[in-house]
Amino acid sequence: MTGKEYVAKVFEKVKNDNPNESEFLQAVGEVFESLVPVFDKYPRYIEENILERLVEPERLISFRVPWLDDQGKVQVNRGYRVQFSSAIGPYKGGLRFHPSVNQSIIKFLGFEQIFKNSLTGQPIGGGKGGSNFDPKGKSDNEVMRFTQSFMTELQKYIGPDSDVPAGDIGVGAREIAYMYGQYKRLNGFQNGVLTGKGLSFGGSLARTQATGYGLVYFTEQMLKAKSITLKGKTAIVSGSGNVAIYASEKLQELGVKVIAMSDSSGFIHDPKGIDLETVKDIKEVRRERLYRYLEFHPHASYTEAKQATIWQIKADLAFPCATQNELDESDARTLVENGILAVAEGANMPSTLPAISIFQEAGILFAPAKAANAGGVAVSALEMAQNSSRLAWSFEEVDQKLQDIMKSIYLNASQAAKEFGQEGNLIQGANIAGFLKVAQAMSAQGIV
Ligand code: GLU
Repeated sequence: MTGKEYVAKVFEKVKNDNPNESEFLQAVGEVFESLVPVFDKYPRYIEENILERLVEPERLISFRVPWLDDQGKVQVNRGYRVQFSSAIGPYKGGLRFHPSVNQSIIKFLGFEQIFKNSLTGQPIGGGKGGSNFDPKGKSDNEVMRFTQSFMTELQKYIGPDSDVPAGDIGVGAREIAYMYGQYKRLNGFQNGVLTGKGLSFGGSLARTQATGYGLVYFTEQMLKAKSITLKGKTAIVSGSGNVAIYASEKLQELGVKVIAMSDSSGFIHDPKGIDLETVKDIKEVRRERLYRYLEFHPHASYTEAKQATIWQIKADLAFPCATQNELDESDARTLVENGILAVAEGANMPSTLPAISIFQEAGILFAPAKAANAGGVAVSALEMAQNSSRLAWSFEEVDQKLQDIMKSIYLNASQAAKEFGQEGNLIQGANIAGFLKVAQAMSAQGIV
C-alpha cells in the first residue's frame, strides 16, 4: 500500500467513526495530508497502523458540572477531558471555557496538542479539556463555584505525572488559581498538577507572556530566513486575550507598529499604534468589551464584527490570535490583495483550509499554529520542571529557554519540510517533525 492509499483509507474510517465532528476532521485532514511522504519512506508505520491508533484518543471523559448561580439557581454545564496520547509523556494541554466547546472542539484541540507538544522537544503528551460554561458576565463567585465543581470531578483523572491541565480561552490566572485550590483541598499539596499558576504558589515567570512572545520569536526566525526584519513593519493582531496581548507587546518591543486588535464583538483600528496598557486594563482588569478603547483614544475607530473583519486593514503582518476558523477564504484573499508579507497563527487552527491554500498559492510566509504557538505549552513544561525540582528560575532564564525552543521548532519544521521535498512549507514540516517523534515512541512501545 502506498502512503497516499494508507492515509486515504484511514481518513475514510475517521470520517465514518466521527460524523458531525467537523473541527476534529479538519485538524486530522490537514495533518494526514502532510504525512503521505512519511509513510512512503517508513512503510513499517503502515504495518503498525500508527495512524489509526493515533487518531483514536486513549481516553475521552465527559462529565456533569452542576453549580449554583448568584440567584441560588442550579445550573448545569458539561465538562470534558480528552487524554489523547501519552506516547512521549504525561497528557498536557489547556482547558477551555467557552459556550462553543463540544466534543469536536476538544478533540481537534487535543489532536493538535500531540504534535505541538512533540515539537517543543519536551517530554509531554497530548491532552485538552474544558466546558461549554460561558465566563462572560459571570461574577467572581459564580466562576469560583463553577470551577470548584468542575475540578471536583476532573481531579479523579489528573496528576503531576499523568495529566497536567493549564489555561486556554476563558481560563486564565483566576480560574487556574481556583482550580488549584480545589485540587489541593481534595488531594493535598501537588503543585505540578496544573500550569499557569500564580507566582506565589508555584507558577513560572514568563508563562503569562510565553505564547505571545513565542509566536513573535518564531515569526522572527521565519522572516530572518528570508532576510526580512520585524523592525519598522505594521501588524494586525486579532483577539485581545492572553496570546494577542503578549504577542503585541513583544512586537512593539521589537519595533513593529500594531495597528488593530479585536474581540468577538468587533475590532479597533488605531493608526498611531495600539496602546496596550488600555487594552490590558479593559480586558484583564475590567473584563469589558474592546470598543471602550475609544473612550481613551478617540482618534481610533471601531468596527462591529458583523460589518467587516479585521483582515481588511492593510498591514505587513497578520497574527490571528483569537480562535479557530476566524480567518476564511475571503479574508485570505483580502490579505493577499493588500500585500501581506507573512501570516503567523497564535490561536489554534485560526485559518480555514481554503484560506491556507490561498496563502500557499500566493507564496505568503505562513507560520502554522502548532509550531508558532507552542511557546505557551513549552513554558508550561518548564513550570513542571521547576515544580519537580522545587526551584524557581528568573524571568530571563525562562525567556532565554523559550527563545531557544522556538528557534529549534522553526529549524526542525523547516528541515523536515526540506527533507520531505516541500522546502519552505512549514505546515508540512511541523506536522512531519511533530509526528515522527510520536510515531517512533509508539512503534518502540509495541501495540498499546
Ligand atoms: N492552551 C495552550 C495551548 O493551546 C497551552 C497549554 C498548556 O500550557 O498546557 O497550547
